[in-house]
Amino acid sequence: MMRDGKLFIISAPSGAGKTTLEKMLLSSELGLIKSVSTTTRAPRAAEENHKDYIFLTKDEFVKQRDEGKFLEWAEVFGNFYGTPKSKVINAIKKGKNVVLSIDVRGAEQVKKIFPEAILIFINTSSLNILKGRLKRRLTDSDEEINKRLEVANNEIAKLGMYDYTIINDDLATAFGELKNVIKKRLEKE
Ligand code: ADP
Ligand code: 5GP
Repeated sequence: MMRDGKLFIISAPSGAGKTTLEKMLLSSELGLIKSVSTTTRAPRAAEENHKDYIFLTKDEFVKQRDEGKFLEWAEVFGNFYGTPKSKVINAIKKGKNVVLSIDVRGAEQVKKIFPEAILIFINTSSLNILKGRLKRRLTDSDEEINKRLEVANNEIAKLGMYDYTIINDDLATAFGELKNVIKKRLEKE
């Protein structure tokens, strides 16, 4: 019988580099697949529907949520985000290794359903680094950035729940560590 795939959950305070590291990871030789989340947030300039997120209206989101279509969902920064359930479960049953890039509350919910999920937290060594990156990214207003920094503190407070923490100050170092952690867990039965 084929063994189930593994489930990796990556969380981070906004601006820590989760999207950047996830993209590098998905194009690496490790063969991981991304669970594309649904969101009611507006697409950013370079984002594509069904690739970066499945963009839904609030009504569409609530309908799918009430139909039980999400493995987990959360309201983050005033928008809804949810992980499509059947896609993730089917991929794991087919032996695929899946990455979920979700917030801390989503990670808590998934860990209850899949206790074997591996939780990885990406952080920076200071909030000032986060702030600088959010400003340079030019995708969010000052008000939005302040909201994200406030929430960062709450996310960091939940760090103890995670199996691994990776500090992304230097991108190449962080990517090397992330790959090592995942390789190690893929080799383990
Ligand atoms: P997140 O998805 O965690 O919100 P992003 O991946 O969008 O974060 O990264 C936020 C910004 O910081 C982006 O402009 C990205 O290019 C930049 N960035 C990511 N990692 C680093 C790093 N190690 N050093 C400097 N800039 C980085
Ligand atoms: P962003 O809007 O910057 O892409 O993401 C904001 C936050 O929402 C990040 O912490 C991201 O991990 C989280 N997020 C993205 N997709 C999901 C999801 O499907 N579920 C949950 N719970 N959080 C998500």
